[in-house]
This record gives sequence, C-alpha cells and structure tokens, in this order.
Amino acid sequence: MASIKPIQLVLFDMDGVLLNSKDNMRVAWAAVQRELHVTVPFEQYFEKIGTPFAEIMRALGLQKLATEASHIYFSASRQHEALLKWYPSINELLVNLSLHGHKLGVVTSKDRSRARELLSKLPIVFDTVQTPETGLRGKPAPDHILLACALTNTDPSETLFVGDMPVDHQAARRAGVRFCHASWGYGDAPDGDCEILMHPLELLPHATVGLAA
Ligand SMILES: [Mg+2]
Repeated sequence: MASIKPIQLVLFDMDGVLLNSKDNMRVAWAAVQRELHVTVPFEQYFEKIGTPFAEIMRALGLQKLATEASHIYFSASRQHEALLKWYPSINELLVNLSLHGHKLGVVTSKDRSRARELLSKLPIVFDTVQTPETGLRGKPAPDHILLACALTNTDPSETLFVGDMPVDHQAARRAGVRFCHASWGYGDAPDGDCEILMHPLELLPHATVGLAA
C-alpha cells in the first residue's frame, strides 16, 4: 500500500461547512427579489451556491443586475447577521487542529471583507483566507486551493479540503488534495474517492492520520 503523507494543511469551505448561512441567504435573496423585481425563486439561487455571486447571477441570466443585486444582497445579509450560525463543534474542531500543529485555511466564494469579518469571530487565526478578488478562477477551478498551498509552503499531497458542494469536490480533485465531504452542509455527497463526514469532529482522525502522537 502506498504510504500516506500526514496532513499539514486543512482548508475549509465556509458556507455550509463552518457557517450555517442558509436562513441569512434566504432573507438577503428576498431583498433582491423585492427591490429589483426578480422572480427567480430562492431555491434556484441556492442550488448554485458555492461559486462567486457574480457567476451565480450570470448563470441565472441576471448579469445586468449583478452589481446592484450584490449591494442589496450584502446589505440585507449584514442587517440580518443574527441569522448566521457557526455549526456545532466548529470551535472545538479548529482549536484541536491548531493544537495538533496543523496549518488552517479557508477557500470560499464569499467576498474578502465579509469573510474576514466573520472569521475574526472564531477562536483561531487562519494561515490563509482565499476569496474571489484575486483574479484567479473560482471553484471548481483549483486555483485558490493551490494558492493556499503555495502561500503556506505546503504540498497539495499534504493538504485536505473540507467542502459541501460538488464544486468543492471538483476543485479538490483538480488541485490534487484530499477531500472530505461535510454532510451537514447543503450539497449531496459526491460519488466515490472521498470521506463523508457526518459531524465536524469526525474530521479529526482524518486530519491527524500519520502524525506522531
Ligand atoms: Mg459551501
């Protein structure tokens, strides 16, 4: 059997993995519907979650409204911040990984200022936070995962990405990193070649395999 390298870097998708933001998104999309007379139902918007907002708007045929919709959406999202909840045990998971000596990062389609503002409320400091403003391709392209590896001096073979959507799985495969599916999130588990986590703390044995006790 081929030897498995210990995981040095654990990267997380944000929405649907660390943060339960569905109720907040529903309210924010309702504001877009109301103010711009958009008839696309929330469920249709939501099934495209995981790619940057502008790309979702393009996919929904709403590219002409993208800038205005973005302002309305993110303003409403901020106003209803109480609807954002970290998933149970996320703090415990992150502190444990940090104590094991892992480097930690986030690869999200959320915008930079919003992502940083929210992540600053967690008990650890991430080594890298990758957001769409870099000019690199968004998920399912591997670019941000590879950049996160490079910026933390870590090989993809020593990196694990935790995501909840098919675009996360595709990005991980294309980057050559290991992937765990967060089943508490929003997407269906991909077929084959990944671990399915039922609870955040189930990540610990996967991330610490091969590490010295
Ligand atoms: Mg997600």
